[in-house]
Amino acid sequence: QKCLSLIKKTKFLNAYITVSEEVALKQAEESEKRYKNGQSLGDLDGIPIAVKDNFSTSGIETTCASNMLKGYIPPYNATVVQKLLDQGALLMGKTNLDEFAMGSGSTDGVFGPVKNPWSYSKQYREKRKQNPHSENEDSDWLITGGSSGGSAAAVSAFTCYAALGSDTGGSTRNPAAHCGLVGFKPSYGLVSRHGLIPLVNSMDVPGILTRCVDDAAIVLGALAGPDPRDSTTVHEPINKPFMLPSLADVSKLCIGIPKEYLVPELSSEVQSLWSKAADLFESEGAKVIEVSLPHTSYSIVCYHVLCTSEVASNMARFDGLQYGHRCDIDVSTEAMYAATRREGFNDVVRGRILSGNFFLLKENYENYFVKAQKVRRLIANDFVNAFNSGVDVLLTPTTLSEAVPYLEFIKEDNRTRSAQDDIFTQAVNMAGLPAVSIPVALSNQGLPIGLQFIGRAFCDQQLLTVAKWFE
Ligand code: GLN
Repeated sequence: QKCLSLIKKTKFLNAYITVSEEVALKQAEESEKRYKNGQSLGDLDGIPIAVKDNFSTSGIETTCASNMLKGYIPPYNATVVQKLLDQGALLMGKTNLDEFAMGSGSTDGVFGPVKNPWSYSKQYREKRKQNPHSENEDSDWLITGGSSGGSAAAVSAFTCYAALGSDTGGSTRNPAAHCGLVGFKPSYGLVSRHGLIPLVNSMDVPGILTRCVDDAAIVLGALAGPDPRDSTTVHEPINKPFMLPSLADVSKLCIGIPKEYLVPELSSEVQSLWSKAADLFESEGAKVIEVSLPHTSYSIVCYHVLCTSEVASNMARFDGLQYGHRCDIDVSTEAMYAATRREGFNDVVRGRILSGNFFLLKENYENYFVKAQKVRRLIANDFVNAFNSGVDVLLTPTTLSEAVPYLEFIKEDNRTRSAQDDIFTQAVNMAGLPAVSIPVALSNQGLPIGLQFIGRAFCDQQLLTVAKWFE
């Protein structure tokens, strides 16, 4: 009930698209009964959790923040949602996002942008007052990052203890960094994607947003495991509950610092925290070495060719016949498809469908799609080579800077910057590796800054152990 009342108090953040109050209260009652009757409890029994609105939830509207799916009520739960419920979690609601998870601001959904709770911190407000260029208070707020910004705002505003995000190119880690949270992207294949409405099937992973690393590990324990409904999941033994050692020894670790991640756009504050973090490991006896990921500069472009190509294919299912929105033009089936898709999708989604179809044209396929697949392999091999040279985890920034004000973010020329902002996160998805962003300090403006650890494939436990030590 405390969480529900906080959801109401923080409605202006626009974190939730749907609040499932009745469901949550009923689940809470059942959980309490289990507890009182001395029945065995799940790992998440009675814990309020929110779910990004691109995971299917049985009987609860699932919109992807798009006109296309407004009113769509799935007949089944995504595997991860079912697993949360099986462990006794309380489903608080469905959180806001960029339409179909395309974006890194949580500003592009049909339900409007998500506001970062840190915009209202005392320290930040004081600083803004001193700034003569600051806009009036109503429009002067920060983005959460995205696309899982609703999930990040929901956890950050204490309306739940954990939230599911999705991570295709950074969408869990980026808002975690901007909202002062832990944002964890598990290894590709460790957690089922069944019921997660796809953006890029070969890169999508359900992500976990929490306030501390231990919480992320417990949620991972509940979610991980093979799923016959997702053929890309693997049999990887995970202890449940998934507990991390409280006192890790980092002295035998080798931490890699990718030199290509020192990009000119990186803010000096993030850069200095990054190097302080490396010093801290060194002072504990860990070996810190510079490594090279030579194909980093191709990663954004490569990601976009692959992303839009998969999007073009994925979005074909939204034809006005099977799900959600249907335009009532009855001239011809084709005219109905076209009008439905024009009304249903925003510019970003339509733009990606067009680009993807361009890259997949017979005459372009080899030059774009196939080439990008090859570059993707080179990018993934960069990581393999770094790990083969003895590195245990890589330490990098998560984002270029702290969260930026909304009005700055939506300026046209900043769209490129927003794609650029994924520079530290996207390559990880192309390589299928686990990665976690953890909050490390507040900036001069009083805003959270996160750093990212990247681990070897399926060494999620080792990765989280290092993150917990650092936290
Ligand atoms: N910003 C990236 C994109 O728009 C990543 C999004 C995501 O991870 N869902 O494609």
